[in-house]
Amino acid sequence: MTEQTAKIIDGKATAAALREAVAARVAALKERHGITPGLAVVLVGEDPASQVYVRNKNEQTKQAGMRSFEHRLPADTPEAALLTLVSALNADPAVNGILVQLPLPKHIDSQKVLDAIDPAKDVDGFHPMNAGRLATGGNALVPCTPLGCLILLKRELGALAGRKAIVIGRSNIVGKPMAQLLLRESCTVVLAHSKTRDLPGECRQADIVVAAVGQPELVKGDWIKPGATVIDVGINRVPGAEPGKTRLVGDADFKSCAAVAGAITPVPGGVGPMTIAVLLRNALEACCRQHGLPFEEVF
Ligand code: NDP
Repeated sequence: MTEQTAKIIDGKATAAALREAVAARVAALKERHGITPGLAVVLVGEDPASQVYVRNKNEQTKQAGMRSFEHRLPADTPEAALLTLVSALNADPAVNGILVQLPLPKHIDSQKVLDAIDPAKDVDGFHPMNAGRLATGGNALVPCTPLGCLILLKRELGALAGRKAIVIGRSNIVGKPMAQLLLRESCTVVLAHSKTRDLPGECRQADIVVAAVGQPELVKGDWIKPGATVIDVGINRVPGAEPGKTRLVGDADFKSCAAVAGAITPVPGGVGPMTIAVLLRNALEACCRQHGLPFEEVF
């Protein structure tokens, strides 16, 4: 069976709706309290992919009505200089959120830099304080990509309690926080990785499959329980049909999975667009909390 029967989960449309909802909240915050949220993005070096991300983040921040502070530093910036900038941003009341674009050049200890960000301004949710709060049920700023996946899942499935979920990949930025979020929703969670035995068999048990592996088209249709929901986080560039051309694929083999799943995110146009939209949502949350204002979930 190769015919696509799964519903396609439109991350692009959901991300646009989330950005609009954030922009409406930002406008209300300005009108009622005279507050404009500010997001600082720090880019060290010239990595082309990072430059595209940072440009998109700045544009979307401004479109949401927030202030965007862009800091571009040369690739040979000493670690101490970056730490000094982070410290200045921590102290700046106009900056409510700080994002240091990864990867950083090799001479800089990324964890040291992430640890230096004020947890209240850590809109990427990578600070150990936020990871700990997520794990212990506190008020955490949650990493953007997994929170985006959760939003897509809840809009697709409603309540998630009692469902069996597998997260494939245990990175600090996607897999682990994703597993924590699903646990928080009372799913029964398997967190799989490269040493997992019988990954296909584990997947076949799951109502929800989140693939965050970084291996092109690893997850096959015969790994999927009929009707399950597949969230594909992977972004992999592979050779295209024509010589010299490339195309993007996910960590799930879309064609075979879409023939079995109940719903699936495409690549591109699924999880990817959610990440920046959630970043704006997190900046709004950080701003509200810093001003002692209540933060109600955007949607
Ligand atoms: P990492 O490389 O940090 O982690 C990959 C994880 O997958 C590891 O835990 C690894 O296991 C596991 N893994 C690797 N190979 C296998 C395998 N054959 N079977 C089972 N598990 C395996 O990746 P990230 O979490 O940073 O990213 C994952 C994917 O998501 C990438 O494609 C990335 O491009 C994409 N991504 C997309 C984003 C978006 O905005 N949509 C944002 C962030 C990432 P182990 O720990 O044992 O080594």
